[in-house]
Amino acid sequence: MSTPVEVTGGPTGLIVAELFGVDQPTFQGEGPSCGCPSLFLRLSTCNLTCNWCDTKWTWDWHQYDPRAVSKRMSVADLLVWALSSPVELVVITGGEPLIQQKKLIPLVEGLLAAGKRIEFETNGTLAPDPALLVDGVRFNVSPKLANSGVVEERRIVPAALEVFAASGQAAFKFVTRTVEELDEIGTLVDRHGLDPVYVMPEGTTPETLIETTRVLADAVAARRWHLTQRLHVLAFPDPRGR
Ligand code: SF4
Repeated sequence: MSTPVEVTGGPTGLIVAELFGVDQPTFQGEGPSCGCPSLFLRLSTCNLTCNWCDTKWTWDWHQYDPRAVSKRMSVADLLVWALSSPVELVVITGGEPLIQQKKLIPLVEGLLAAGKRIEFETNGTLAPDPALLVDGVRFNVSPKLANSGVVEERRIVPAALEVFAASGQAAFKFVTRTVEELDEIGTLVDRHGLDPVYVMPEGTTPETLIETTRVLADAVAARRWHLTQRLHVLAFPDPRGR
């Protein structure tokens, strides 16, 4: 498994992998806002190396040249981009977006001032800056299970999870393959007070998602947890950038 390394380059601006949702409208495909019209800001770099990661171009610099697959963008340019659309929800994802959270604060402030709502997609290993724990910002926290291939000490950071849990602004989403993994989720939920829980099938094809959904559905329902989908994979022939 490759090790993520820091992108080098200019000291200013956010390291951006892709922006989408303005010219070609789309919606949030996962979690509590699944189906909501959304804009997406995908940031580069991650502090984990999940073996099933479907956005490795954001962090795996052994496979990808960071200068070819990412660029620096200023907060001002990102605001112009987001405010060019009437869509209210801006999803900030990655990679792991909270690696760049200090630089995201003025962007979040500008988006909220313009009437946008924000959802962060985060792996839950970095506690959010208090400046991000404000009205209009939600966190879809996705702690990784053993199926990620990442050692537990790196993927589960109790202090960070407990900040999210106490914030009242987070939902906890688990990428899951088997019914047996629900016990692993249950242990994390009990240990760190995680609520609400969303179980999401792992997969990058409609066939895999449907098959895994049917494997998981009864057991998720029995636990009174939420079951979510990857709607963009089901809806679009090429979900990249959708
Ligand atoms: S935390 Fe997310 S972006 Fe990072 S390696 Fe895992 S799946 Fe990929």
